[in-house]
Amino acid sequence: MNRTLSHWTALAAGLSLRTQAFVAGRFRPACEGRTFATLNPATGEHLAYVAACTAADVDLAVAAARRSFEGGVWSRCDPAERRRVLTRLADLIVASTDELALLESLDMGKLVRDAATLDVPAAAEVFRWYGEACDKLNGEVIRAGEGALAMIDREPVGVVGAVVPWNFPLKMAAWKCAPALAAGNSVILKPAEQSPLTALRLAELAAEAGIPDGVFSVLPGLGHEAGQAIGLHDGIDCVAFTGSTEVGKKFLGYASVSNMKRVWLECGGKSANLVFSATRDLDRAATFAAQGIFFNQGEVCSATSRLFVQQDIAEAFIARLLAKVDAYRPGNPLDPASGMGAMVSEEQTARVMGFIALGRESAQLACGGERVLTETGGCFIAPTVFTGVDPASRLAREEIFGPVLAVATFADEAEAIRLANDSIYGLGASVWTDDLSQAHRVARRLHAGSVSVNTVDMVDVRTPFGGVKQSGSGRDLSLHAFDKYTDLKTTWISL
Ligand code: NAP
Ligand code: MG
Repeated sequence: MNRTLSHWTALAAGLSLRTQAFVAGRFRPACEGRTFATLNPATGEHLAYVAACTAADVDLAVAAARRSFEGGVWSRCDPAERRRVLTRLADLIVASTDELALLESLDMGKLVRDAATLDVPAAAEVFRWYGEACDKLNGEVIRAGEGALAMIDREPVGVVGAVVPWNFPLKMAAWKCAPALAAGNSVILKPAEQSPLTALRLAELAAEAGIPDGVFSVLPGLGHEAGQAIGLHDGIDCVAFTGSTEVGKKFLGYASVSNMKRVWLECGGKSANLVFSATRDLDRAATFAAQGIFFNQGEVCSATSRLFVQQDIAEAFIARLLAKVDAYRPGNPLDPASGMGAMVSEEQTARVMGFIALGRESAQLACGGERVLTETGGCFIAPTVFTGVDPASRLAREEIFGPVLAVATFADEAEAIRLANDSIYGLGASVWTDDLSQAHRVARRLHAGSVSVNTVDMVDVRTPFGGVKQSGSGRDLSLHAFDKYTDLKTTWISL
């Protein structure tokens, strides 16, 4: 993909934006008629005013979803039909790559280059993969003796609410909606207020692909309005949430005071990256350590934001790491030469700068630490590394969700494992070593949903992604995601 800045700038000038809610197969204003502004955080400019959906819109979408679900047009159709529609949607996403990548970049600040080569193809791949999977899942027949036949089947749960964050807006939408739709559910998606634009375009592409009216709705809106209304709705059977641990806990509360809907949570993280002295290729490890924290401006739930290096190689390793940082110099997200894009918002920028201020007091600043490119009106932070970080400090313990790496050292394997596991989170972890036994020993002991060995943050549609502890429950991706969106039905027949 060798698109130029002028290609993207010209495309941006002619872009048309969808700004209304998508309910029952058509775009419509929010019931209360209100809108909210979505900004381009690289310039501070207004992009659009988008429908601010509230409980009344959730009621409408649930009614349409329930009608379509009970009618069976999608929920009871031949799964081969769902396969054809979802793979067609994947094709349409691929065909709209430039447009979707640009919308994503303008809305939340990521590099358009990454959106076009990573986010959009990954979203298409997820729709294709679940589309292909859905007509290959069969039930079980149980040997129940001469006098009985027992069957176990998977049924869609009904109406699924998907509430997603702003860091990978289209990809997170795909992670939730693709398996939920493939299983035959009707789905209501609420994108984050900072990044509603690709979700609204996805609604249109889904309709074009043949997803029937009411089966897929998109409700842009604010968390405490549209998000809360989804959490509390008695007509929603399951909520799949990705976002902060704080808001994830609210969804557990919403379920407990409403209909006990199933709640699946993919929440925050503070993933550890352990570099042992048995690592042969320290340069490669340093390249990945930088990528693990600076990719997507560090706005990655599974970012390896805590780096622990074995004492005897620490000095050499940190020197190599610092040599990699220049590749992440922030710049115009539409410029293919930029190394990092803009932070999603002024609010998030202020939050990250607050953590940097704390770091300046408690650790050594090795690089970065500044807000940059302020003349653009945008939200840019230089890639920042702190060394000598006290594992008890807030810098080491709290999710920063920005380009800030906390580095500390360890003496031996036992200490490395102890430090890595000393966190309320348990999303990902990385281990670098060329000692095979050490790799297995350490990977087994780490409290994390995913452990990457000699790489960082490996994510693949074929393998589950999710966390333990306060990183949440349930898994996105892989065939296991169907467990969240289906119920087991036993039918026992006395012969
Ligand atoms: P967030 O504030 O928790 O928001 C996530 C979603 O929840 C948004 O759609 C938001 O809507 C909505 N929401 C906010 N307050 C709500 C409320 N009171 N009731 C119902 N819904 C509400 O998270 P974020 O700041 O967008 O994203 C960053 C967080 O997501 C980080 O903690 C990160 O680790 C986590 N994350 C986790 C994963 C994972 O797979 N584990 C992946 C990506 C991100 P509004 O935006 O309109 O408020
Ligand atoms: Mg925005």
